[in-house]
Amino acid sequence: MASMFIRFPEGKLKAFTVSYDDGIESDIPLAQMLRARGMKGTFNISSRLYAPEDHVYPAGTTHRKLKLSARTAAYEGMEVAIHGATHPFLEQLPGALCVQEILEDRIGLEKEFGCIVRGMAYPFGSWSDDVLETLRLCGVSYARTTRATHSFRLPANWLLLDPTCHHDDPALFELAEKFVNGSPLATSSHAPWMFYVWGHTYEFEQKNNWDRMEKLLDLVAGKEDVWYAANGEIRDYAEAYRSLVFAADGHMVHNPSAVKVWFEYNGAVYSVEPGSTCTLW
Ligand SMILES: [Zn+2]
Repeated sequence: MASMFIRFPEGKLKAFTVSYDDGIESDIPLAQMLRARGMKGTFNISSRLYAPEDHVYPAGTTHRKLKLSARTAAYEGMEVAIHGATHPFLEQLPGALCVQEILEDRIGLEKEFGCIVRGMAYPFGSWSDDVLETLRLCGVSYARTTRATHSFRLPANWLLLDPTCHHDDPALFELAEKFVNGSPLATSSHAPWMFYVWGHTYEFEQKNNWDRMEKLLDLVAGKEDVWYAANGEIRDYAEAYRSLVFAADGHMVHNPSAVKVWFEYNGAVYSVEPGSTCTLW
């Protein structure tokens, strides 16, 4: 029986990523916590929703949008992704307005941050078949839902990217321990693991549980077998793997992508340089 599984860069078997929504002031300390541990995350924000420069929130407000002038520095080294230009229920909108929400957010964020933006999280976690089609046409490469899988599997459809769990999920630390101490090689599939945590940073203030996130990041940080990456990096790498071209009998492989790709084939680990062809047996 032939078997083939994607491996992450450097042949790694695990990846860790986080995804936080809405462009909140308390994204700043989370991004700092990630940077300090050599980790990366994705922040899903609406290009048109931010606090006016002179705005002062009433004391005790936890949902405080970042000011536009603060956003570039806040997300330095992180991935910024689409969340709808005005955070609508996308599936309720007429098609043209749905297109506008996605495209306007994408164009706005690309101008604001000076990079290509292709990731997304569904506002309110809701979608429809028409929304999925819109995302495809607007060049969105992945979109995160709010459905917890309690698993580490890569999605079959990146436009329905289900997270492992929310940071307040009662199973969070059980999953973290399994991720850190376990191995996909101990399972029958050998498919690599992606531990994916999502939430809103204002929830840390509302529940006064920043220590929960700190504990999670400390548990997962600094592991040699873990790839710490933003959502889009993992998606793009998975796409590079998917684009590998194999000979009909599997003895040769060509990598047409711009990145080195690793995989496990019949129990052995291989890597193929970008643009090159190699013989496997
Ligand atoms: Zn949101």
